[in-house]
Amino acid sequence: MHLAANSWTDARDADTDLAILPVGSTEQHGPHAPLGVDFMTAEAIAAQAAQSYDDEVVVAPSVPVGIAEEHRAFDGTLWVTEDSFRDYVGDVLRSLAHSGFDRVVVVNGHGGNTDALAEICMRVSRDGDCYAVPFTWFDVVDSELPLGHGGPVETSVMLAIAPQLIQQDRYPEAAEGAGDSFGEFVAGANLAYDFDEFSGSGNLQDPTPASVSEGERLLEAAAESCVELLEAVAERER
Ligand SMILES: [Zn+2]
Repeated sequence: MHLAANSWTDARDADTDLAILPVGSTEQHGPHAPLGVDFMTAEAIAAQAAQSYDDEVVVAPSVPVGIAEEHRAFDGTLWVTEDSFRDYVGDVLRSLAHSGFDRVVVVNGHGGNTDALAEICMRVSRDGDCYAVPFTWFDVVDSELPLGHGGPVETSVMLAIAPQLIQQDRYPEAAEGAGDSFGEFVAGANLAYDFDEFSGSGNLQDPTPASVSEGERLLEAAAESCVELLEAVAERER
């Protein structure tokens, strides 16, 4: 049941304490892909997992802006501070719990959110407000293709869920300015703070090898892992 598409009486009558909260980012993903990749992929995986899950689960509307200041050189990128993000996501989790949905899997589509999500999920769980566990989909699925940023993995998933938003004629532009790692490393330290210091196009890795079939496979694998986690979170003693 998607909260945004149902009434308060439907929410009252929902026979579950389990919810999914998709969290993403609005940030550049290269010239060929939309700024919404990270929350769109999180929403798609959440929706598919909710559909595959045997029992009822509530899907909350997604948090579409996250921790992404490193992309500030690329127009259209939005971000909030770590403090705002933790406060906001924490309040969303506590309000889900207030309606009785106090077991939550947070489906995350953006690497920059990972540390803050782990912190806030730990906080609300230790405080007894809500039992929340973060799930970052690209950390749990394997692919022959490199992850990168706006790279073949994310581009494949977008081709599977919203192909009209991928501008394949811009792959050469994306590839030409692409970096190959998340920073500029010397002696194990990252010298770079902003993405444009190591990528001209906003990409890491050439998106060209992306395909619909790989996107469908990744989506399926991510949703399957998410279902496994939903089952564990639903059964966990608290
Ligand atoms: Zn992304």
